[in-house]
Amino acid sequence: METYPIPLVPGPVRVRPEVLAAYGRDFGSADLEEEFFALYAATTARLQRILQTRAPVVVWQGEGMMALWGALKSVLSPGDRVLAVATGVYGYGIGEMAAAAGAEVRTVGLDYDRTIGDLAAVAQAIGEFRPKMITAVHCETPSGTLNPLADLGRLKHEAGVPLFYVDAVSSVGGAPVLPDAWHIDLCLGGSQKCLAALPDTCFLSVSEAAWEAAAQVRYAGYDALLPFRDALARRLFPYTPCWQATSGLHAAAGAVLAEGLEACFARHDAVAAHCRERLAQAGFALFPAPGAVPSPTVTAVRVPENIAWPEWDRRLRRRGLVVGGSYGPLAGKVFRLGHMGTQADRGLVDRALDILEEERRALP
Ligand SMILES: *Cc1c(COP(=O)(O)O)cnc(C)c1O
Repeated sequence: METYPIPLVPGPVRVRPEVLAAYGRDFGSADLEEEFFALYAATTARLQRILQTRAPVVVWQGEGMMALWGALKSVLSPGDRVLAVATGVYGYGIGEMAAAAGAEVRTVGLDYDRTIGDLAAVAQAIGEFRPKMITAVHCETPSGTLNPLADLGRLKHEAGVPLFYVDAVSSVGGAPVLPDAWHIDLCLGGSQKCLAALPDTCFLSVSEAAWEAAAQVRYAGYDALLPFRDALARRLFPYTPCWQATSGLHAAAGAVLAEGLEACFARHDAVAAHCRERLAQAGFALFPAPGAVPSPTVTAVRVPENIAWPEWDRRLRRRGLVVGGSYGPLAGKVFRLGHMGTQADRGLVDRALDILEEERRALP
């Protein structure tokens, strides 16, 4: 397999060396050793600091989608009402996943190039539909947008909606994600985006209301949340956790905290702004609509006219640059630069932009 010297795929991103080093060590059987329990506790404590939350954080084996599915199935019984607030592939997709899990779903949606703003339609839907849970996505990675969630969280809280579920997989560690301030009950993160670890763990903060919902639903399965409520206290995990993966996530979270949250978020903001500025100067059209909030972790750009995406992708790869395509209705129309985690690096983005500029000039 060929590898690319200029990786700008929006996850999995280039892995931190200190994370890779954690995989080279030998450990004992994770589910039996006190050292593992201490590592698990230290890892969740680091994630709590990154999320600035007092709620417990649970770490799961499996990449981001596992958190999305497991959290839904753990708190929903058939017929429960879910209001999906959607502005992109993941937001609409979570509504479909909740429906597949047996929920009755209503979606309040915007076009994929927009972000959440006026909440009148959401407020009306809450009043009519009385959902058990609202779902939303913080960073819509395929659209390169970041939904502001503070006001939606306040609305959920004031309206007495029991649960707020947020996919923050591609923003945790790259932008402030504040489950406590935003009244989020299930805040989902992944290892392979801004934390720059391998795609093998995911994590979620769990409010007391979410634990209570899980205790009522009593979902059983590999991705069930409830067994993690007292797994550490009982020294009883529902499966053997991967010591190396937990160690990798511990190192990744430690690197973010060692840089400092403010510095880390500022680095993402600065690189994103620089990336968008150079793209605009070079004549590229950004995907998010005017007025939508662009994400500090990923930039979505329209594929230039006069060339099809597969050929554009081939030309960039020939130069050593690999970017992300997009999904669903955006497939073939949008490509993405993932400047998150290790890739929120001005030098790396400049090398990519030099190539993008040249390749664009070479188009008919
Ligand atoms: C990456 C991502 C996920 C998880 O998907 P993976 O299969 O782990 O890549 C979920 N939600 C969002 C918004 C993501 O960007």
